[in-house]
Amino acid sequence: MLRFLRIGLDDTDSKKAMCTTYVAAKLLERLQREGYKPLDYPWLVRLNPNCPYKTRGNAALALTVEAKPAELDRIVDAAVSIVKEWADLGAEGTDPGLIFAWNNQVEGLREIYWRALTEILEIDEVKERCDELGVHYITFKEGRGVVGAAAAAAADPDSLATYEAIAYRVPSKWGLERGVEESSVIEMDKKTRPYTFDNYDYEKKEVRITPHTPCPVLAGVRAITPAHAEEGLKMTRFLEPIDFYVVFRTNQAGDLHYVPARICEVRPNTSYIVKGRVYSKPTTIPGGHVLVTIEDETGRLTLAAYEPTGQFRRIVEKLIPGDEVLAYGAVKIKDSDLTLNLEKLAILKLAALMVRTAPKCELCGRKMKSMGREKGYRCKRCGVRRPDLTPALEQHERKISEGVYEVCVSARRHLTMPLTIKSLLRHHKHG
Ligand code: ATP
Repeated sequence: MLRFLRIGLDDTDSKKAMCTTYVAAKLLERLQREGYKPLDYPWLVRLNPNCPYKTRGNAALALTVEAKPAELDRIVDAAVSIVKEWADLGAEGTDPGLIFAWNNQVEGLREIYWRALTEILEIDEVKERCDELGVHYITFKEGRGVVGAAAAAAADPDSLATYEAIAYRVPSKWGLERGVEESSVIEMDKKTRPYTFDNYDYEKKEVRITPHTPCPVLAGVRAITPAHAEEGLKMTRFLEPIDFYVVFRTNQAGDLHYVPARICEVRPNTSYIVKGRVYSKPTTIPGGHVLVTIEDETGRLTLAAYEPTGQFRRIVEKLIPGDEVLAYGAVKIKDSDLTLNLEKLAILKLAALMVRTAPKCELCGRKMKSMGREKGYRCKRCGVRRPDLTPALEQHERKISEGVYEVCVSARRHLTMPLTIKSLLRHHKHG
């Protein structure tokens, strides 16, 4: 078996500067220059999107190189010098961590990866696990980055089923407005989809491959194969030079952050899949946010489709009591109640929409008129009066269908699987 060293890296950036993908790319370049052979694409591993310590998308990175134990010190020195050179160490909350796990150690850390997708871990428990396994780690400042670094190094290769080609800007452009031709993004999206995804939000008319932060990233194209990611990037026209680009293998779009739960089990700051029946009619609150309450045998939970989720709200507002749904999203505390912020909604079974209506006249067949509450009906045409009649129930057509619905592209989380790639991912096995 080939001996490899997996280097995990996290928490090198701040809101104002840098991006850990850039630092990882610089480290990869340095290791390759020193003769180390990468054994896979660099990994871009997304972790719990509800993590309070995250800067943006809660990403951690891992590199896999062929190496011998005697080379560890040299690799560690290279990694430390790259972090010192590029990390925004002066910023509060930038607390880098580095992990160096050999091939026979990564499985022992695997549980940390799965837990870091859905839970919040303590720095000490990660360090203790590394100590137990003999995994070498280095922390800077408060060292919180060791959590993400360990999780990325231990990621399950089978869960890394998509790719992202990221282009970086020349340093003189960092912090300035990004130059990308919008029409070329639309063209690229139309030519490469569904193999690339989330490039453009047609609802909001917004380019989604460029970030809005002062970081070194120019653009990133997400795809289900490395070739499509690269092709998408090459098809896009930029109005500024690309310094270099890197294709990352990622766990994005895998729906890995959702925990299946009953309503009584949900806790704040975790993402869930909850099955329930619609309990009450949806309401729209100021700001255009749509709320609806569901229930299961253990309790009730409010689902929220916020304004940024776009047309998705038009589906949620058409739900009626009795509809059976699967709700996907992050649970938050709102006014001391728990609310699930919807990311996706599967309508499993639509209830019959029964509407109370006036009965028809026996003689002329026309709709009768009410004579007042519980006072029966009369026919205006024939003059027939029927105090004994009660309203009839008529089944009306539902304006929505059973199926899965998702929020608009700009409201999507990195880990959420877009509906367009669901069937494709099943046919592309990686790892
Ligand atoms: P970017 O996406 O720009 O790289 P980020 O959003 O990934 O930034 P970081 O700067 O990496 O944010 O900060 C996230 C911090 O939270 C890191 O220190 C990481 O180790 C830690 N972290 C990530 N997931 C968890 C978790 N599940 N539990 C505890 N800490 C976590």
